[in-house]
Amino acid sequence: MELYGIIGDPVEHSLSPPMHEAAYRELGLDASYVRFHVEEGDVEEAVEGAKALGVDGFNVTVPHKQAVASLPRLELDDTAEAISAVNTVDLGEMKAYNTDAAGVSRSLERHDVDVAGATAVVVGAGGAARAMAYELSRLDAEVHVANRTEEKADRLADEFDVSGHGLGALDDLVPEADLLLNATTVGMEEDRSPVDADLLHPELTVFDAVYTPLETRLLRDAEAAGADTIDGAWMLVYQGVEAFEIWTDLEAPVEDMDDALRRRLR
Ligand code: NAP
Repeated sequence: MELYGIIGDPVEHSLSPPMHEAAYRELGLDASYVRFHVEEGDVEEAVEGAKALGVDGFNVTVPHKQAVASLPRLELDDTAEAISAVNTVDLGEMKAYNTDAAGVSRSLERHDVDVAGATAVVVGAGGAARAMAYELSRLDAEVHVANRTEEKADRLADEFDVSGHGLGALDDLVPEADLLLNATTVGMEEDRSPVDADLLHPELTVFDAVYTPLETRLLRDAEAAGADTIDGAWMLVYQGVEAFEIWTDLEAPVEDMDDALRRRLR
């Protein structure tokens, strides 16, 4: 049997197990996917222990994505290296990846969004924003990052080919944009949007990384403005699809993984 899992703290509510197990069932694979609660400071031992126990691969969630990226025994792919964060490890090959970036581009592709030459505004400058900014810039979009703490957006702009701003710049950026991506936590705890509804317009595609709730205030405002919308479940599904494909070399059953995830989210 193949064994996969996810390390994080907390990890109890991770939706990756039902999503991956739906893929194993659909393809008849003898595999299992479990949650491993790993505390900060125990990451290196956990990775070595998992390797010794014969675990085939694992995903990494908060707060360990940067710590895993700095483990000397793992070889990082270009994306993980550029973002300085790992969310997928192949223990057989001792290779580490960041599939959040592919989660962004594959979600956009799924919704027929042309990224090359598009003007994209990413709100936020944390982990999700790094993956979005990196991937959109790699795909030749003109990327603007706006964050509450402007220095963090400026730091991101120094690393990638993007421009950094404070949230005040959204007034000028959003009306001119083709793509608006929310990578803040705004919309999770409260029914609030990080972007003023008056700025949204029908030429815009609005992508929210937040997936609890699935229908955020931002996406409701976007629909009301006539914009296209992409909810946060897509990014979560496609980062999992990409990890599944790295581990198994099989084409992932996307619809089954998406169904399993959305059933849990509802
Ligand atoms: P993070 O690294 O902690 O970054 C949080 C970001 O939110 C920062 O830019 C922060 O700004 C901003 N922020 C927090 N409160 C704010 C407020 N009241 N007003 C304006 N900005 C605020 O978090 P993350 O890991 O990037 O996650 C961000 C969101 O993306 C979460 O909802 C997470 O669940 C989601 N996510 C989804 C996926 C997916 O697959 N769908 C993957 C990863 C993350 P400051 O820098 O000023 O603090």
